Amino acid sequence: MQIYADNAATTKMSEAAIEAMTEGMRNWWGNPSSLYTIGQKAKEKLEEAREEIAAVINASPREIIFTSGGSEADNQALLTTALNGKKQGKTHIISSAFEHHAILHMLNKLEKNGFEITLLPVHDNGIIMLDELEAAIREDTCLVTIMTANNEIGTIQPIAEIGEICRKHGVFFHTDAVQAVGHLPIDVKAQHIDMLSASAHKFHGPKGVGFLYARKGIVLQNLIEGGAQERGKRAGTENLPGIMAMAAALKEAATSMEQNNAHISAIRDYIIKGLSEIPHSALNGDASQRLPGNVNFSFEGIEGEGILLLLDQKGISASSGSACTSGALDPSHVLLAIGRIHDVAHGSLRLSIGEDITREQADYIIGSVKEVVAHLRSFSPVWRDLTEGKKQIILK
Ligand SMILES: *Cc1c(COP(=O)(O)O)cnc(C)c1O
Repeated sequence: MQIYADNAATTKMSEAAIEAMTEGMRNWWGNPSSLYTIGQKAKEKLEEAREEIAAVINASPREIIFTSGGSEADNQALLTTALNGKKQGKTHIISSAFEHHAILHMLNKLEKNGFEITLLPVHDNGIIMLDELEAAIREDTCLVTIMTANNEIGTIQPIAEIGEICRKHGVFFHTDAVQAVGHLPIDVKAQHIDMLSASAHKFHGPKGVGFLYARKGIVLQNLIEGGAQERGKRAGTENLPGIMAMAAALKEAATSMEQNNAHISAIRDYIIKGLSEIPHSALNGDASQRLPGNVNFSFEGIEGEGILLLLDQKGISASSGSACTSGALDPSHVLLAIGRIHDVAHGSLRLSIGEDITREQADYIIGSVKEVVAHLRSFSPVWRDLTEGKKQIILK
């Protein structure tokens, strides 16, 4: 059996997206900036895509800037609010400890350039506390950036409430909604969102294309200087086939969202229930405030990489709680942020399922993970120390 359970890393392009992309490449290859008919036809397609995308999040088309993906949108949002804030003497930014690296690394850079960063704790359940957010806001706070849904543990933040608090205090609110757009209902007006990042390849669109929503009135700062594309805020000839495919994918995702989510979350809960039977294991992140397709578990006494490789042999593509950076295995900053100790964070597994998942596949996943965990524990020295009482068991 072959099961792709890593939709948080990327998704397979939908047929609608592939069709739109081919149509764009075949028919609308003109440069949207050109004044003759071929160019203007391409421009029409570009604006059509912008309208379709804006409608899904209740924005107006002028508030959408196309980017090369989620990372670029995140970077531009942060740079914009930082530079605009600095002009008014505001150099304090609030974020959370478990943001995507596109946010955290940019914040590091801003910190080295004189900004002060407050990272809110996300607590055991992977959710920030609103009173802690409100208490952290200062006179010189120029930005709050909190992700809508976490890419590793899937927890969903109270975005509308965060937006309301930011509005009340006159602070800009950006959200990295890369895991949420196309999967959860988003309404930038009702949720008081000033800026939002999205990426097509997380909702069955192509890689290398995304968008930034910036509420009317926000003066964007450029990451890329050059031509006057995207109202002068993002230079470079537009990736029209990619943008058309993104619009097609998003439209489809939005239309089938409710139906998909009912199915996916039922299977998610079924898998969570099955994996909970594994002794000395724990679900990471809140059980209900989480993305419909996200399952994330820690298993004591083993390493995530081992789980992944053995699952791959069984035809299951999943992801672990560690990232192989510079040759060393660092446990995930997300799992550390929710209070998992180093050793426990190491033995983690993320399954992110999609709408094509079946009950039969779920049974196969549960059976395979149980087998793999038992097998790895059977020769793990750490597990032996734990069972012999030489080390303390954390997950009861
Ligand atoms: C994937 C992802 C990104 C990066 O998006 P790219 O399009 O790959 O640059 C940013 N934030 C989150 C939460 C993500 O899941």
